[in-house]
Amino acid sequence: MESLSIATPRVLRPVIGSVTLSLIVALYLVSVTNRTFWSKAMEYLAAPSTAVFLLGIGLFSLFAAICVTASVKYLTKPFFILLIMIAAACSRFMDTFGTIIDVDMIRNAAETTGSEAGHLLTAGFLAHMFLFGIVPSLLIAVVRIKHRPFPQKFKHNIVLILCLLAVFTSVSIANVRTFASTIRQHRDLVATLNPVAPIFNAVRFGLATGADKNVAVQPLGTDARVIAPTQSGKPRVTIIVAGETARAENFSLGGYARQTNPLLARQDVQYFTDTSSCGTSTAVSLPCMFSVYPRSSYTHRKGLETENLLDVLTRAGVKAEWWENNTGSKGVADRIAYTSFSDINDPRFCKNNECLDGVALDRLGAWLDGVKGDSVLVIHQLGSHGPAYHLRYPENFSRFTPECRTAELGNCSRQEIVDTYDNSILYTDYILSTVIDMLKARGDRMAGAMVYMSDHGESLGERGLYLHGAPYFIAPPQQTHIPFVLWTGSETKAGIDQACLRATLDEPRSHDNLFHTVLGLMNVSTKVYEPALDALATCRTRAAS
Ligand SMILES: [Zn+2]
Repeated sequence: MESLSIATPRVLRPVIGSVTLSLIVALYLVSVTNRTFWSKAMEYLAAPSTAVFLLGIGLFSLFAAICVTASVKYLTKPFFILLIMIAAACSRFMDTFGTIIDVDMIRNAAETTGSEAGHLLTAGFLAHMFLFGIVPSLLIAVVRIKHRPFPQKFKHNIVLILCLLAVFTSVSIANVRTFASTIRQHRDLVATLNPVAPIFNAVRFGLATGADKNVAVQPLGTDARVIAPTQSGKPRVTIIVAGETARAENFSLGGYARQTNPLLARQDVQYFTDTSSCGTSTAVSLPCMFSVYPRSSYTHRKGLETENLLDVLTRAGVKAEWWENNTGSKGVADRIAYTSFSDINDPRFCKNNECLDGVALDRLGAWLDGVKGDSVLVIHQLGSHGPAYHLRYPENFSRFTPECRTAELGNCSRQEIVDTYDNSILYTDYILSTVIDMLKARGDRMAGAMVYMSDHGESLGERGLYLHGAPYFIAPPQQTHIPFVLWTGSETKAGIDQACLRATLDEPRSHDNLFHTVLGLMNVSTKVYEPALDALATCRTRAAS
């Protein structure tokens, strides 16, 4: 800014009063960067209505009060530019994908990988940032702000701020009933107030992250032990495929009209048709699904400070290992063997540290051949992670066409987006079926099982929503209804009444079931195991053999 004022001749720079500029910035933020907020407000407050009009006056007054407060020499320009840039970036995601930027969304953004974030920085995003962020910021940078002499400004601004706050308060009080009931019924409204909500949530995230640094992990299942080895003496081997962004709606195993699971359909798998996720994002769901806590009592903090399924298995003497092909295990694999495919960046499967899920199959055979005792391997897929669905599968899986071969979803028709997404599900079908084939091929040496659960679903344009990460209370079923597939080898299968199991497949299941189902499959006894949450317990004819 300083260099600009030296480089630009003073005469050419328009002069503007600090209060006038504050009011313009407030108006810009309230109107231009809040399209999503206003479209919701107009719907919920039945526009055209007095309530909408008064809400506009009230919010403008509040924003103006904040801007005038910050219109202090040297602070004005950086503060306004920062607000505008944040609001511009957030409005792009809110207006284009229907994203709500809450604490979990900020956590996802903070924990994402460069390649994943890169897919969101499209030409559309850059154009939006130029138009709604850079251009107004340049205008602010170029003008000369006139401040009154300090004592006069202080008095003047205090009076003005009090007046603005008085307008905001009286408008709110006059409509308190309408506003309160609307906010209570439609919690997504306040959550889209830009940039207030994102900034508020970023501060909350920062505070929580600071507090999380001192977490001491508490032991869990200290009494865990394998009840008995298999009768044959073969090791029990369970592969948990932690799916990514697969929604149940597009699984033909669950009734989707398109054949997206042709290979699994030929395997002897069980598909649980009514399974819900713990969260709508990787950062929430992944630690939650491996946690002992059910969704009803799970918190991010509890997940961090308590050992998880993999720790309990390790205590029981089961070898637990994690293969990562996504944005990290979110702390779940902190205490076990861990391999990251993006770090290895094998050129046969990976480009710019992003790898097709086939990379896991490539080494699974050797891993299985090296198994010595009871083992659990988690494969965290890249799955169907958007928006670049077309990069999630090799060319020979382009079965549904025409595809959307860009991360700029706005440039594709809904059908193209669905085609591309379905191809990624088709590839996951191949991955899962191949895992099963590999376990089957080693049936003489191990008692195998595979559990597949996606971490959350995905919106593909329904109700104007794209991607995932909606706050759970307003999340559409596309984001929370997930596929859950189970395959067991003959030995484990023999201990389960198959007719009984088939009869339970439509019962409600969720991520709450993973912890206990896997302990049951591995025949681990511990006081933290709850048979009621083991998806197989009611149909077990005897302790797993
Ligand atoms: Zn995810």
